[in-house]
Amino acid sequence: MAGYSLIRPLGFFYAIILILVLTYLWYSGRWKQRAGILLLLISAALGFLIFSPVAPHQFQELMVRNTASLGVTLMVAAISLFIIFLLTLVSGRFFCGYFCPVGALQELAFLVPAYKIQTKQKHAFMAVHMIVFLIFLVMALVLSSSLLDYFGIRDFFALTLTAGSVVFLVMLLLSAIIYRPFCRLVCPYGALLSLPAGTSFLALQRTKACINCRRCEAVCPVNEAKRDDRKAECYLCGRCTDVCPEPGALLFRRRQNGKQD
Ligand code: SF4
Ligand code: SF4
Repeated sequence: MAGYSLIRPLGFFYAIILILVLTYLWYSGRWKQRAGILLLLISAALGFLIFSPVAPHQFQELMVRNTASLGVTLMVAAISLFIIFLLTLVSGRFFCGYFCPVGALQELAFLVPAYKIQTKQKHAFMAVHMIVFLIFLVMALVLSSSLLDYFGIRDFFALTLTAGSVVFLVMLLLSAIIYRPFCRLVCPYGALLSLPAGTSFLALQRTKACINCRRCEAVCPVNEAKRDDRKAECYLCGRCTDVCPEPGALLFRRRQNGKQD
């Protein structure tokens, strides 16, 4: 739809500008986790209203070169996704954490008070995710076919009842008890972003003030709060900083590569 083509880039501008704002707020220690809920609600609403910035879908359409479905020109989509990739290299996965409507809905679902299944087998999740990513690439580049269509993201945000949207709804219900199953097992753009996130310039770091109480490790849903974890799967959810009892023990700052200061 022509109107959507003009509006969809706004979703990416929203994400890119606010990633910069969040990077500054986290780095300067001014971030208040309460504001995160508001961002999650806005991002989820943008998914329903303008289907943007739904990066997994737009990344897929870029890979299969389906510009008709993309809703933004190939160039705008490619540049936006590349800028988000570069920003992830600077400050980690703020996009996944707060701005992707698919991630936002799963994060909100996990806030629902319900029994939680601990899924700390980070390496097993990452291995499955990389296999799914390879299948996605082969389907897109060799067969011109779209893996994500089976997960119904597009139909779900268009409020259209299809087999795919039911699959996505089930995944969303699952995210009330398992942390972000779609992001951690399926999303091709998330798999791509985990690469720069693992070496980002800024990341959450434990300092000498840390008393090794390990509360951060206990609350981290993705097993990324240990001192030498690479943070490839860290969604900057803030659960670790919230429970840390020592001021200055856990800071968002330049990566120390295992060194303490
Ligand atoms: S992993 Fe994918 S679905 Fe999840 S937040 Fe990131 S881009 Fe969105
Ligand atoms: S608890 Fe901390 S380390 Fe774990 S995902 Fe959230 S912000 Fe990242």
